[in-house]
Amino acid sequence: MIRIAIQAKGRLNEQSTELLSEAGILIEESKRKLLTKANNFPVEILYLRDDDIPQAVAMGVADAGIVGLNEVEEKKYPVEVIHSLGFGRCRLSLAIPKGENYDSIYWFEGKRVATSYPNILERYFKQNHIFAEIHTIAGSVEIAPSVGMADAIFDIVSSGGTLVKNGLVEVEKIMNSEAVLIAGKNITPEKQVILDQLLFRFDAIERSRGMKYLLMNLPCDAVEKAAKILPGVKSPTILPLQQEGWCSMHVVVSENELWGKIESLKSIGAEDILVLALEKMIL
Ligand code: ATP
Ligand code: MG
Repeated sequence: MIRIAIQAKGRLNEQSTELLSEAGILIEESKRKLLTKANNFPVEILYLRDDDIPQAVAMGVADAGIVGLNEVEEKKYPVEVIHSLGFGRCRLSLAIPKGENYDSIYWFEGKRVATSYPNILERYFKQNHIFAEIHTIAGSVEIAPSVGMADAIFDIVSSGGTLVKNGLVEVEKIMNSEAVLIAGKNITPEKQVILDQLLFRFDAIERSRGMKYLLMNLPCDAVEKAAKILPGVKSPTILPLQQEGWCSMHVVVSENELWGKIESLKSIGAEDILVLALEKMIL
């Protein structure tokens, strides 16, 4: 049995639960308590505030956790980041009031900067030999300059809309963040086996993201050309049609290249093209 800590409420909660459920770990919503056991996989889910997840994992209260890399970097607890999960993407940036004359990070020398991420900021300023006053506040960081609490802020940015609304301009990006799977450093071999199974499932889910399953009919003598256009994972599947001289080709394709490939396939005689969703890809 392994215990995984996820955010109880907030931006990462829904996608964390969704990822676990795509990996076949079913947690009954109705039974949702602080700690819930999955009914079909040796996993317990512990619901915490995101700030507390790195510490819980470092202390062994949970064996693994899903949390933003920003929290991991801020807390610096001894945990292993074992997998990036591709959601909860954002960046941590320095922002200053609009209209300021900004030419380099030396603008920050001697300034007061409000943030909820004092450790990341302190490390950054130290590396760049800047002496600034860091004011740690828990929330609503973006209003600090307009109420005179600070000259600038260091905060999470995703679209940048909040900054604009508060008359701020992003001037330096310090780090990118996304949700990551973390694990304790001293996980037992038995727990490692379960964690590896989970990682295997996450991989399959990730691999199938943005992939489509393509079926089409084409003259058999165009199959070779088609296979060059779409080589598939190993090679495309080719089945004969009842109609003489015609084949059916099945292949996996990335959504980004879908339309371009379809045009090339049509030009060599492909017809009756079906594009299907691909749920999991296990290699
Ligand atoms: P908690 O109550 O669990 O402490 P919180 O208010 O600290 O929650 P949320 O706002 O739910 O945290 O954000 C959780 C994580 O989501 C952030 O730490 C960050 O990794 C990620 N995130 C992605 N985009 C954004 C965004 N636009 N604003 C804030 N966080 C974001
Ligand atoms: Mg938090």
